[in-house]
Amino acid sequence: EHVVNRIAAGEVIQRPVSALKEMLENSLDAGSTQVVVTVKEGGNKLLQIQDNGHGIARDDLHLLCERHATSKLRSFEDLQGIGTLGFRGEALASISFVAHMAVTTMQHDAVHGLSASYRDGIMDTGSPTPCAAVPGTTITVEDLFYNVLTRKKALKNGTEEYSRILDIVSRYAVFKAGTGFTVKRQGEARADLHTLPSASRLDNIRAIYGPGVANSMLALKHSVGDMAVASSSSFSSDGPVFTAEGYISSASHQGKRSTFILFINGRAVDCSPLKRAIDAVYTTVLPKAAKPFVFLELTMPGSHVDVNMHPTKKEVGFLHQEDVVDGLRAAVEHQLLASNN
Ligand code: ADP
Ligand code: MG
Repeated sequence: EHVVNRIAAGEVIQRPVSALKEMLENSLDAGSTQVVVTVKEGGNKLLQIQDNGHGIARDDLHLLCERHATSKLRSFEDLQGIGTLGFRGEALASISFVAHMAVTTMQHDAVHGLSASYRDGIMDTGSPTPCAAVPGTTITVEDLFYNVLTRKKALKNGTEEYSRILDIVSRYAVFKAGTGFTVKRQGEARADLHTLPSASRLDNIRAIYGPGVANSMLALKHSVGDMAVASSSSFSSDGPVFTAEGYISSASHQGKRSTFILFINGRAVDCSPLKRAIDAVYTTVLPKAAKPFVFLELTMPGSHVDVNMHPTKKEVGFLHQEDVVDGLRAAVEHQLLASNN
């Protein structure tokens, strides 16, 4: 049974960055305003995430790594309008099947913290134990895939895994203004990424992607249909309903690498058709322009996002996709043309 679970876990957690993304989303779900990520060998050896969120109650600790144990699935309506980022209760369970996992947590009104360790979905006997702590949660994942040698062999070197980790935290740092993020390699004093909770999205774009990008940013705002009506109705609407907000680079941006950051309903995702459509606008409108930087936050009724797609898959699909893509393509084109004149 453990072998089956281990294989399933390897599908959910494919590499260090997939574990990190899940833990990051949990920290944000817990209302954290500070998140510190510490990494050794690109997360192959150590992945630690410390947050100042609401913490985990003692009674919830033994279920933490049980598959489908989630504190976030309260009703069918919750599933429809997924307010929090995760909803499956599968991430930590999966991690515990393919790595050594330890948790230290303290709720804000508690007098001490608790620490617990896990293996194969189960809390170790003797856990949890009281300990000194600060409010929030620290999850430590060590020796990822120590028991899945095929996965371990397929892992890239620490440098490449680390750059993936920096990339995903960078995206969340831009998206989640109001939360400060730090990423550092274990034993290094200097952080490789550091943002402040007081910083705006534009501040964070500047800090992470550089002043060249930040100075060329055009704000984008576009909405179609009525979100309030569509979200409260149990029928799917005849046409697309969404709001889009973001920043896109103008002609003055001379970057050599294109950056496309997309969030749908609070999760970092990929949508290749959308990326291709927006790339095409840049090549048409600004033929000499360098690669675009695009940050887009899309909100749409939860029932429009493809629920059959595995939530850990980054590529998403949604209802009325062609119309949404075309609406966004037109909005980007409009902004670019306006700024070019
Ligand atoms: P999900 O996020 O889908 O509920 P996870 O396996 O990612 O499932 O997490 C399981 C549960 O553990 C969450 O529902 C939450 O209650 C708790 N949890 C995980 N990480 C944290 C954290 N950083 N702070 C507070 N609670 C957490
Ligand atoms: Mg989660």
